[in-house]
Amino acid sequence: MPELTPLEDALRIVLESVEPLSTERVFLYDALGCFLAEDVPSDTDKPLFDNSAMDGFAVRYEDVKNASEENPAVLELVGEYSAGTGEEIKVDKGTAVKIFTGAPIPEGADTVVPVEYTETKGGKVYIKRAFKKGSNVRLRGEDVREGEVVLFRGHEIRGYEVGMLAFVNRAVVEVYRRPKVAVLSTGDELLEVGETQKRPSQIRSSNHHMLYSLIESSGGIPHQLGIAPDDPEELLRVLKTCKDYDIFITTGGVSMGEKDYVQYLVREIGVNVKFHKLRIKPAKPVLFGTYGKNKLFFGLPGNPVSCGVAFDLLVYPAIRTMLGAREVFKRKVTAVLTRDFTRRDAKRREFARARVWFEEGRFLCEPLAKQQSHMLTSFVGANAYLVVYEGVNELKKGEEVEVVLF
Ligand code: AMP
Ligand code: MG
Repeated sequence: MPELTPLEDALRIVLESVEPLSTERVFLYDALGCFLAEDVPSDTDKPLFDNSAMDGFAVRYEDVKNASEENPAVLELVGEYSAGTGEEIKVDKGTAVKIFTGAPIPEGADTVVPVEYTETKGGKVYIKRAFKKGSNVRLRGEDVREGEVVLFRGHEIRGYEVGMLAFVNRAVVEVYRRPKVAVLSTGDELLEVGETQKRPSQIRSSNHHMLYSLIESSGGIPHQLGIAPDDPEELLRVLKTCKDYDIFITTGGVSMGEKDYVQYLVREIGVNVKFHKLRIKPAKPVLFGTYGKNKLFFGLPGNPVSCGVAFDLLVYPAIRTMLGAREVFKRKVTAVLTRDFTRRDAKRREFARARVWFEEGRFLCEPLAKQQSHMLTSFVGANAYLVVYEGVNELKKGEEVEVVLF
C-alpha cells in the first residue's frame, strides 16, 4: 500500500466493502428518507371515476355546442353534485347539474362549463360560451391505471412519495433498513457541551455532535457514544461494542501522536484495516477497515474541518449505499471562480470550503478566506467544496472549476 492512498482508490475500497442492508416493512412516516425495496403498484385507476376539474355545470355537449354570449343555451337545473356526493341524477337533454371540483360527472353529462361562463336565474342556467366535448372533465385512469407501478424499487421516499403511498392506500412499505451508525470522540483534552473547563488546555468537543447530525441528515440512525479519553483500556471497552452497529466512527487518535491509540486498538477488535492515510487536504489521517461483512469502521481525524470533509467524501457514500440509494455521491457542478485561489503545496487533492450560488445562468464559486483544518468557522456559511486537483498550485479568477455541493 503506498503511503498516501489516492481518493479514487479509497472510494473504490469503501464501495467494494459495502452493500444495501436487509429490508424491512415500515409505517408510512418512518419510510421518509429511505429507499424502496419493492415496486409499488396503484391500487385502482387514478382518478377512479370521471370527475369535474372545475366548479360549474355538468352538461351534454350537444346542448351547448352553439352557445354564445348573444345566444346562450338555456338549461333546466336538475340538481347539485359536490365532491363525495351520493346523488344519482341523470342529465337528460336540456338539463344541467351544478357541480363542484372533484365531484363525479353525472350520468348523461360529458362536459363541464365553468361557473364564470354562466348565469343562473329562476331554476335555469344560461350557458354563454361553447366548449369542446369533454372540457373540464378529468377522465378515469388518465393519471395511472390500476396495477401500474407508481413507485419503483430504489426510489427515494421524500414527502411527495409519502403522499403517493397514501394515495395508493399503503400504510406500510418495504424499504432498505437504515444503517445504525455509532459515533465516538476520543481525546483527553475534550470537554462535553455544558461541562466546566478545569484547565485552559481543554477544548470543547464538536466532532461527535457534528457527526451525529451529519449521520442523521444523510439517512443513517446515529448512536451517540460521547467522549472517550486517550486511555487504551477505556477505548478498547467502547470499541468492542462495534458489533452492535453497521458503521462505527471515531474521531481523533489516528495521527502520528504517541497517544493516538485508535489505529492500534482497532486491530485488536478485529478490524481489517484497508487504508490509513489519504492524499487529500484536509483529512489526510483517515483510517478505514471492515469488521465483518458490510460492517465498516472509519477512524476520522480530530481536526473538526478534516472530520467533516472525511465524512462527506467517504462516510456519506457508504451510508447512501447501505440505504439502497442509486446515486451515492454529493452533486458536482462546474462553477466560475470569483477570485484567485493559490497554494504552495500541490501534492494532495484539496477540498476548499466555498460558497456557490447561481447567477445569470451559471454557478459562481467563492472560496472562503479561512481554510485551515482546525477552523470550524470555515464550514459555517459554506455550501460547497472547491476541488483543487493534485499538481495544481493556482486557479485564476474567471476559470471554470469543479465544485461538490453539500
Ligand atoms: P488528534 O487527531 O487526536 O491528534 O486531534 C487533532 C486536533 O483535533 C487536536 O487539536 C484536537 O484537540 C482536535 N480535536 C480532536 N477531537 C476533537 C473533537 N471531538 N472536537 C473538536 N476538536 C477535536
Ligand atoms: Mg487526540
